Amino acid sequence: MTDYKKDFPLLKDSQVAYLDNAATAQRPLAVLEAEKAFYEKYNANPLRGLYELGMEATDRYEEARDTVRDFLHAAKSCEIIFTRNTTESINLVAYSYGLNNLKAGDEILVGIDSHHSNLLPWQMVARQTGAAIKFLECEMDGSFTDEAIENAVTPKTKFAAVTHISNVIGRVNPVEKIIEKVHGVGGVVLVDAAQSAPHIPIDVQKMDADFLAFSGHKLMAPMGIGVLYGKENLLNAMSPFLTGGEMIESVTREGAVFAELPHKFEAGTVNGGGAWGLKAAIDYLNSIGFEAIEEKENALTALAMEELKKIPHVHVIGSQDPKEHNGILNFTVDGVHPHDIASILDGAHVDVRAGHHCAQPLLAHLGVMVTTRASISFYNSEEDVLRLIEQVKNIRRLMGYDE
Ligand code: PMP
Repeated sequence: MTDYKKDFPLLKDSQVAYLDNAATAQRPLAVLEAEKAFYEKYNANPLRGLYELGMEATDRYEEARDTVRDFLHAAKSCEIIFTRNTTESINLVAYSYGLNNLKAGDEILVGIDSHHSNLLPWQMVARQTGAAIKFLECEMDGSFTDEAIENAVTPKTKFAAVTHISNVIGRVNPVEKIIEKVHGVGGVVLVDAAQSAPHIPIDVQKMDADFLAFSGHKLMAPMGIGVLYGKENLLNAMSPFLTGGEMIESVTREGAVFAELPHKFEAGTVNGGGAWGLKAAIDYLNSIGFEAIEEKENALTALAMEELKKIPHVHVIGSQDPKEHNGILNFTVDGVHPHDIASILDGAHVDVRAGHHCAQPLLAHLGVMVTTRASISFYNSEEDVLRLIEQVKNIRRLMGYDE
């Protein structure tokens, strides 16, 4: 298996088996250098300075936007809005689209597998507009059946918030099918791609998503840069989320004329270094290619799952087919709290996440309170996975059980 750890300063000489990639990825040297280069070579306030350095900063920022456009296969760069993260992108849509377009009598369809970031903004919209939240329910393996989709979408479905890959289940959801169905009744769909963007190619035009959100930090970019894709006609018709500097054409004592897309939605000084780092992350991902990424992640996931399934008292959440997990493995160990599991694993330098993973309604639906999550990236090694397995094998004994 190709060794990618050499590209990651934090991992290359480290004993740590970092298996919390769904929370945030590690950064390759290329990204760290790009962010540094922005401040060393191009630093000025982007979109403002008319001097050469200011224009360099603007060019780098807009080049990054073009790279994201190509990454998502969007039609136009003005459809790419830079935000802080997925959470902010979804809130932008909730405040600017949801509050102004939804009303009592409308239904907002939300996938039961939503991260809280793709649920709480819609609860807020429902509270303020009188629209009702309806859940699209999944099976115990996390799948959404055609029947569930068919029954959940009604003529009242004016908006749907769905997840491309859940951070608990890991499988690719049939978002195209949901979008087609919701469009059929005149509704609008937002796709949360926080977990899919690092693992599988995304084509917003083929998918026909109206809005799509992801975070740079899960894709090896710096923290604090995120993306909202929106169809131009929808974004144009929306009022700004935040107001202030740089999102205006002109201002008078009484009011303002807002800037054109995308700047209408990017109030205040932007994250130039973060955007340039995101471009470097996408370039790095592209240099490896999603085919190689999927192959390595699927092989490591299959190894982890096969071995986990052999251990008595261990249960993997969701599908039992490793191909349906995209590197995300949530599991429970009978009689052992995930916090104990995570701290025992930490003792062996295996980093995993324990808790409700910001998806409490989903866990309640699946009948579990908390789980342990190992999330695998292409830069992990077989050794990382085997260390996890060795430790999980011993956990019940360490907790005083006979087997
Ligand atoms: N949606 C999903 C599916 C996620 O996994 C996460 C992060 N765990 C988020 C949204 C929120 O991402 P962020 O904290 O970067 O806004």
